Amino acid sequence: MTTLPRKPPPHRCWAEIDLAALERNLRLIRASLPAHIRYVAVVKADAYGHGLHQTAARLMHAGADLFAVANVTEAAALRELGPGWPILILSPLLPEEDSYLAEYDLAATVSCLDEVRRFDAAGRAAGRPIAVHMKIDTGMGRLGVWHPEAPALCQEIMNSPHLKLAGVFTHFASPDDDPNFTAEQRHRFLAALARCPGLDQKSIFVHADNSSGLESMPGAGLFNAVRVGLLQFGILPHPNSMLAQVRTEPVFSFHTRVGLVKDLPAGTGISYGRTHLLRRDSRVAVLCAGYGDGLPRAASNRGQVLIRGRRCPILGRVTMDQTVVDVSDVPGVACGDEAVLVGRQMDNEISIAEFSRWADTIPWETLCSVTKRVPRIYRTALGV
Ligand SMILES: *Cc1c(COP(=O)(O)O)cnc(C)c1O
Repeated sequence: MTTLPRKPPPHRCWAEIDLAALERNLRLIRASLPAHIRYVAVVKADAYGHGLHQTAARLMHAGADLFAVANVTEAAALRELGPGWPILILSPLLPEEDSYLAEYDLAATVSCLDEVRRFDAAGRAAGRPIAVHMKIDTGMGRLGVWHPEAPALCQEIMNSPHLKLAGVFTHFASPDDDPNFTAEQRHRFLAALARCPGLDQKSIFVHADNSSGLESMPGAGLFNAVRVGLLQFGILPHPNSMLAQVRTEPVFSFHTRVGLVKDLPAGTGISYGRTHLLRRDSRVAVLCAGYGDGLPRAASNRGQVLIRGRRCPILGRVTMDQTVVDVSDVPGVACGDEAVLVGRQMDNEISIAEFSRWADTIPWETLCSVTKRVPRIYRTALGV
């Protein structure tokens, strides 16, 4: 005998993912770039928490040229969608992961001679060449071969019978706030490429720019691809970004519901630690979301939510499953009302940038912090 309810219970906290907006964003970003620039869709970390399969399928439909993920597990999940799409792994591989490159037809990032030898051996063992993108460290100090040593590594790749050079790239350390250093990184990259013998730049992906980099991207030159993560989700990399002109739309919004409304007298302490004392007789609403869903505890006593189109401040500490907000000034709030944590409600909006600032973090981390408990609801209709 089953005790499961016949109808699934309602969502208490959920994220809405607007796939039509995602597709429009890709097309807008593409239209803002020179026609020959190829689009590398960065979909690591479950497509920034948006859901890998749904997001990547829509980006394929919209015409992404290459997909970039963090690791072999993500790449294998993406490969389930079908053969033929080039997939680049951005992180270094563990030695036990090498054989998956051929098995799933993946391209690896190469930063050192040891990797060249390992991947060449994996290609030999599999009887098919392994695609690699050589990464050049032009000042990020993380992955990549240090730039003066890039030509020698490039030569090793070209001399490896079981490797196929499919791209060369670098990554910027401060594209938002240090245009001079970004220009220096571009210069180091191009100077290194100029010293790579026999490199046919037209036949491979040459890429440096992430979302922020696009602001200073030269119109032409040797670059023929961009790696877009955050911007395709309709989020600007920083508040004064010139990319606002591209007019992308947010893909992600974050919702919960009011579970309880009650009146409390002035002086009552709210939530663990009683870090907020009510200054007046108040009406509070208890929301069905907390840090167990990805509403950060750091937003305690700082954040706001939208209920009935009005901003309601968070009172006291955010807890695992519940958060208390002040609804004294919002008439008619009732159990079951929707509360928007990120997104629009009527004429009001909380952006993911604002939400992230309340928790002293950045939109990238906010998106990665929405937990497994939160179902992603996909909206797929085309239209405005
Ligand atoms: C994550 C990542 C990107 C995408 O960056 P956004 O700022 O989200 O556009 C590009 N390149 C590399 C190497 C990355 O790790």
